[in-house]
Amino acid sequence: MAKYKNYVLARSIEEAYELNQKKSSVIVAGNMWLRMCGMNKQTAVDLSLLGLDRIEKTQDGFVVGAMTTLRALETDTALNDAFGSVFARALAPIVGTQFRSTATVGGSVYSRFGFSDVSALLLALDAEVVLHQRGVVKLSEYQLEAWDRDIITHIRIPGGQRASVQSVRVSGTDIPTLVCAAAKSEKGIRIVLGARPARAVIAADGLKLVDAQNIHIIEEIAGRTAFGTNLRAGEAYRRRIAPVLMARAVKGCMECEAKEAAEDEC
Ligand SMILES: Cc1cc2nc3c(=O)[nH]c(=O)nc-3n(C[C@H](O)[C@H](O)[C@H](O)COP(=O)(O)OP(=O)(O)OC[C@H]3O[C@@H](n4cnc5c(N)ncnc54)[C@H](O)[C@@H]3O)c2cc1C
Repeated sequence: MAKYKNYVLARSIEEAYELNQKKSSVIVAGNMWLRMCGMNKQTAVDLSLLGLDRIEKTQDGFVVGAMTTLRALETDTALNDAFGSVFARALAPIVGTQFRSTATVGGSVYSRFGFSDVSALLLALDAEVVLHQRGVVKLSEYQLEAWDRDIITHIRIPGGQRASVQSVRVSGTDIPTLVCAAAKSEKGIRIVLGARPARAVIAADGLKLVDAQNIHIIEEIAGRTAFGTNLRAGEAYRRRIAPVLMARAVKGCMECEAKEAAEDEC
């Protein structure tokens, strides 16, 4: 169990940032991960009052506040309409509804968990992380960095993409044994592999459709990706199932596009 001596409901993002520069402080979002960490901190800084829990549609896509819950992403109509319901499908396997109603997108992106369905999907969608101090950073960069003391205010998701997420779990509500997210944009197809069990990586980017649908090319891409062993599965198992998930994720993008084209004709 985590223990905090002081609890501060920050009144501004500047106040939260200043407090968070001390090693004895910690930003608390959904508190779902932190509460299990058993840490003793002087000050817990809560971002709940800062209006960071909104999902906004913009000209270029969507801007999602860091305190937006996974459940809000899963159920937001505009977001799911824009991306073929991928958020609804990708996030539904995460623990349970009550859990997803509390865990946040900011907490997920900051944590860079190897097992994150959230990071895998956002990475495939070429999302950007908006940080209070540093400004805008590509998630593909942020994902590789060490944890720092900046605060994520928003996540930006470019529009005009079709995406699909496939995961394998030992049991229904467990963390994934392997997760694959694919997104199709005008730049081609991006495939991300997560829960390898290391942090999610971009396995392929800018792939032509004809190549993404070729199982030999998919197998070759999986062959170049690093996998490992943990309690949930061995390296060989992950290597074996990766091309299957990748092929299904690419197919998912295409089905999503075909469905939308059919709806447009109606
Ligand atoms: C039992 C369990 C099972 C899970 N299973 C899955 C799963 O299957 N798939 C999946 O994708 N995820 C899973 N998760 C992860 C979960 O979805 C969240 O990522 C996790 O709970 C963190 O989100 P939170 O809002 O609870 O963050 P917190 O626990 O409040 O914070 C986590 C970390 O992020 C930092 N932080 C939070 N918000 C910000 C911010 N705005 N700026 C800077 N730093 C910030 C905190 O200081 C802390 O270090 C699981 C978590 C748990 C506890």
